[in-house]
Amino acid sequence: MLYKARTKSKELLIMELLNTRMDYEGEVLFDALTEKLQCECIILNDLLLNINNTNFQIDSLIITSEKNYLFEVKNYEGDYYHESDMLFKITKSEIINPLHQLNRSNYLLRQLLLNLGFNPQIDASVVFINPNFTLYQAPLDKPFIFPTQLDQYLDKLNTKPSKLNRKHKKLADKLISLHITESPYQQLPSYDYEQVRKGITCVQCKSFSIYIEGRKCVCKECRHEELVTASVMRSVKEFKLLFPDHRITTNAIHEWCQMVPSKKRIRRILNNNFNQVGVRQWTYYE
Ligand SMILES: [Zn+2]
Repeated sequence: MLYKARTKSKELLIMELLNTRMDYEGEVLFDALTEKLQCECIILNDLLLNINNTNFQIDSLIITSEKNYLFEVKNYEGDYYHESDMLFKITKSEIINPLHQLNRSNYLLRQLLLNLGFNPQIDASVVFINPNFTLYQAPLDKPFIFPTQLDQYLDKLNTKPSKLNRKHKKLADKLISLHITESPYQQLPSYDYEQVRKGITCVQCKSFSIYIEGRKCVCKECRHEELVTASVMRSVKEFKLLFPDHRITTNAIHEWCQMVPSKKRIRRILNNNFNQVGVRQWTYYE
């Protein structure tokens, strides 16, 4: 049973807008798989928790009657090799240590569960979700789940007898109540209007390859279509999120969206969706 969906914090939304290549897709892919679990379990996705002034992030936690399953989801793509607990990307000098993050969350979650008086038994694994991921020299004794093993792993979990009671629900509710939505520690990179790429992005594939055909915005990459009004409004929302101090004016949004040639069209959309403040060239929208 999905009990807490993955909702994005404001910082994360901004991060995503600033950086179209986020490591979020893998987690969503994993959510889609765990959602299909039929066994009695509670799934909590994307928790940001704190214990003793230390924040830690949990990609996915599955509560069953026997124990808790903690998953760190990685969307790495390409060829890596494993050496002394580190992963090295073969073509680049990139080094990562997903176990470090997993062990940290595992340790901190265990402390938290003990403090709250719940079953502290945790089975922690790193899930490599990308089908195009290969790990050479993969050790047998590490809690890694590879793309080819994932179905089997979840099948096994599914057949484990699990009977949830009030205590498990209480644990889930407690963790959700402790979830931090606005992290004061999360640092956003500094950015200004000039640096940020303008234009409407495709709602489906995030590309900037949009053209307008009649009432619709069409994506050259994935052929997705969206009404111009919806595309403009989505872009206004992004503009507001990125630049809360900027006023929403016809000129500002015309420049922000780039590919809508007519200012009149922008003005009409803003008029229909916002309250107009001021008159003529001093008009802005709220
Ligand atoms: Zn597209």
